[in-house]
Amino acid sequence: MILPIYAYGQPVLKRQASDIDKDYPGLDELIRDMWETMYHATGVGLAAPQIGRSIRLFVVDTVQMEDDEDDSDEKGIKQVFINARILEEEGPHWDYEEGCLSIPDIRGDVSRQEEIRIRYMDEHFQEKEEVFSGMNARVIQHEYDHIEGILFTELLKPLRKRRIQRKLEDIKKGKVSAKYRMKFV
Ligand code: ZN
Repeated sequence: MILPIYAYGQPVLKRQASDIDKDYPGLDELIRDMWETMYHATGVGLAAPQIGRSIRLFVVDTVQMEDDEDDSDEKGIKQVFINARILEEEGPHWDYEEGCLSIPDIRGDVSRQEEIRIRYMDEHFQEKEEVFSGMNARVIQHEYDHIEGILFTELLKPLRKRRIQRKLEDIKKGKVSAKYRMKFV
């Protein structure tokens, strides 16, 4: 089932999300719905607060971003992350223009570190600890921020932040059009 995506201004997006256990009601269905919702909106990641649940769950599919002409050997991932904790971030910072399904029509360069080490549970509640880099790390960092209550627009440089202020206010008021269903304040 495709779920409405909570828009900028919804308090749930600013809350630090809680851990869940494997008895969380309807978890399998929720994960299925999150994949469906993400693909419908042509996203590469979606975090539970974006569909109104303040829990530490997000999904990432960077396989879609793989570029045939890209000669790097980095492979995309398709993965469910539950109760994730980033243990360390390493390497040089690099800028990349990010966007967010909760904040349509706004993009901006965010500086993030190259590599992360993260501990999480997969959808079968198997604990994993892995290192991700490049675009995989980037998308995980963006989704991870969601479960910490942080939005990418807060990480933009001051000038860019000022420039998008009015647009953000418009989104808050529901004055934006997206190709998918959204839930405004
Ligand atoms: Zn986002």
